[in-house]
Amino acid sequence: MRIYLDNSATTHTDPEVFEAMKPYFCEVYGNGSSQHFFGREALAAIDRAREQVAAAIGCKPSEVYFTSGGTESDNWAIKGTAHALAKKGRHIITTKIEHPAVIKTCEALEREGFEVTYLDVDGEGFVTPEAVEAAIRPDTVLISVMTANNEIGTIEPIREIGAIAKAHKVLFHTDAVQAVGNVDIDVVRDNIDMLSMSAHKFYGPKGVGVLYKRNGVKIERFMDGGEQERNMRASTLNTPGIVGLGRAIELAVADMESNNAHIRALRDDFVRKVKERIPQIRFNGASDFTKRLPGNANFSFEYIEGESILMRLDLAGIAVSSGSACSSGSLEPSYVLLSIGVPIELAHGSIRFSFGKCNTQEEVDYTVEQLCKTVEFLRELSPLFKNVKGEEKYV
Ligand SMILES: *Cc1c(COP(=O)(O)O)cnc(C)c1O
Repeated sequence: MRIYLDNSATTHTDPEVFEAMKPYFCEVYGNGSSQHFFGREALAAIDRAREQVAAAIGCKPSEVYFTSGGTESDNWAIKGTAHALAKKGRHIITTKIEHPAVIKTCEALEREGFEVTYLDVDGEGFVTPEAVEAAIRPDTVLISVMTANNEIGTIEPIREIGAIAKAHKVLFHTDAVQAVGNVDIDVVRDNIDMLSMSAHKFYGPKGVGVLYKRNGVKIERFMDGGEQERNMRASTLNTPGIVGLGRAIELAVADMESNNAHIRALRDDFVRKVKERIPQIRFNGASDFTKRLPGNANFSFEYIEGESILMRLDLAGIAVSSGSACSSGSLEPSYVLLSIGVPIELAHGSIRFSFGKCNTQEEVDYTVEQLCKTVEFLRELSPLFKNVKGEEKYV
């Protein structure tokens, strides 16, 4: 048995997406910038993908820039804006729970002399529009707040934040990497100036993403070289990847309601059963499930290490994540969990379960059984837990 409950780290490429990509490796292999028919064929496929992206988020095809993924799009949006507007102001507003692609980019800008405000979030991971507004200064050039958090699934009030940014004439960027395919996005309605996405988080291929940038927003070009992407992002376009992204976003939006209903039902059942059967746990992130990614469940288990749970579930054929994939390998507890007030010892005992469109009820039931056994087993080994049980006896 192999059960994949790590769909926030990456998803499989949908077979339909793979089919759409196939001709663009060995047959339609022209360089999209070439003027002959080999190039024109590739360019036609790239233009189609651009239209598919535009239709999915409500922008114009000319506002879609293909990149190598979410990390590049975040780096480009934030550094590109900061460098283009440095004469106007050098202050950026973001939050404490952004993905490292945003946090580390902001830290790099701080080393260049920019100032960054990292806003606090509440106990469920929400940033308030009021806090964003209060942080705006005359020299603020950019607000960057993620659409949905990758660890705890909290969906931020980006429409309200977009309206505030617009009223104050500050640019607004959102990392929507976790949101595309799960959350309805309309960049015009939501007043979004720039938005990052990544194909491999919505059943597309790895290594390809998009930066949407509203026409008229001036940012620095990303790489020097050829004149691809309207002279803003050099390098030969990744035709198969771009075709895959286009098909994947088209499917993701068309099937969003049915996928979400399925995923949400599995997640809700899982959360209910875990809460029923395992004592001394903390459920992290939004408690209002309408403001939470449909597939996300994040729990902290008292008295045990998340890594030990992860390894024992792995042996049982279940793939989950402790903290975020990006911070695994380090023994630092998740900064996202610390930011929402999870005590440090408890943060160490945390696991993210992220459900996807191919998971089944059987998989949920098996996972609940294995998780119950694992937690019980590890707690029996834990001196801290014994202590507590002992104390309880004598109360
Ligand atoms: C995965 C992820 C990224 C990084 O995307 P890549 O395509 O892997 O570079 C950025 N932000 C969030 C919220 C993510 O979940």
